[in-house]
Amino acid sequence: MSKICSLCGSSSLKKFLDLGQQPLANKYPTQEQFADERFFPLEVYVCESCRNVQLGHMVPRALMFEDYYYLSSVNGGLVRHFEALAQELSETNFVVDVGSNDGVLLRPLKKLGVRALGVEPSINVSKLAQDEGLDTLCAFFDQDTARQILESHGPADVIVASSVFTHLDDPNAFIEAIDLLLADDGVLVIEVEYILNMIDQVQFERFYLDRIFYYSISSMQALFAGHGMVLTKIDPVAQHGGSLRFTIKRATAAAPAADIERLIAVELETLNTAALRDFGAKCTELVTALVEVLNGWKSEGRKVSGYGAPARLSTITNFGSIGTELLPFTVDDSPLKQGRFSPGQHVPIVTSTELDAYAPEILIVFAYEYIDDIRRKTGNAYTYMMPIPLIELTANTAI
Ligand SMILES: [Zn+2]
Repeated sequence: MSKICSLCGSSSLKKFLDLGQQPLANKYPTQEQFADERFFPLEVYVCESCRNVQLGHMVPRALMFEDYYYLSSVNGGLVRHFEALAQELSETNFVVDVGSNDGVLLRPLKKLGVRALGVEPSINVSKLAQDEGLDTLCAFFDQDTARQILESHGPADVIVASSVFTHLDDPNAFIEAIDLLLADDGVLVIEVEYILNMIDQVQFERFYLDRIFYYSISSMQALFAGHGMVLTKIDPVAQHGGSLRFTIKRATAAAPAADIERLIAVELETLNTAALRDFGAKCTELVTALVEVLNGWKSEGRKVSGYGAPARLSTITNFGSIGTELLPFTVDDSPLKQGRFSPGQHVPIVTSTELDAYAPEILIVFAYEYIDDIRRKTGNAYTYMMPIPLIELTANTAI
């Protein structure tokens, strides 16, 4: 059966990357749960029509999200990012934050006196925000949820969806729900990882099963055009290793950004099937190189551990079959992950006190975008390495 682009319906999808069988990257099992882990093929395709990049296999949503271990407020960098966004929204009458996590944006909005409502599907995470007095609806954002908010709160002047768009299995349905809730002159702010940065920086570790779509300016433009909406502004965002912030309005309320055609022309130099297949080959070379170096360090008796347990830890270790013999443990600051194991390869996730006990020489920093925070927390006492490509993270390393 030929595959079809879920954004535009074209059947001209071409595979350019195969990361093998992978577990769900955000399910951190306990030892008792090892036997229940499920694996799925992680293959990546490009649509030659709208330049959408999507996975070949869609894991049922029901298998995800009941529990979620990522707390945005644990990361100082993200907290500052959302405080700055809240400042920009300080004059807004009513903000809806879709995928509000533990209230990382709701908190500064509340301080500024902005009326805001979060929507968060994860039960345990939304409860943290509710317990803190941050108005949060525990739900998936769909048309029913949009109607419910419309009735209880009225239309939203701004809807924010940061790091949530990439997790959707049906972006068109999501936008239909946005369409219901957004005021006529309302603003939709989407922060989403930019596929071009992932390709340019050879970040295959940012593909995982929870994320079906990887967006380009081309595919976003095509997607929103189908709903009578235009991209009015495109800004780079440093968080999540190079995202874009799309400011989107109804076509009846605003004109598209002036530089959009130029930006699309640039990205087409990379988002073509030949260039993407080169990228796929390079990914295999990089993970092979990582495994060779880890084996070399092991035989030299040099001690290594990981820092951070983001989803990409799972993609990298499962693609490279890197288990505890090469990576005895990884440190993570989220109490929800500590005491659990990495998906698939079962690397223990521990607190930073383990570093003192084990005294490794080298830290493989999986949460590398937070290297400044990590360096501060760990007293700058180690050699800090980025996993892919395996290079030392110095003060000058561009991330
Ligand atoms: Zn398409």
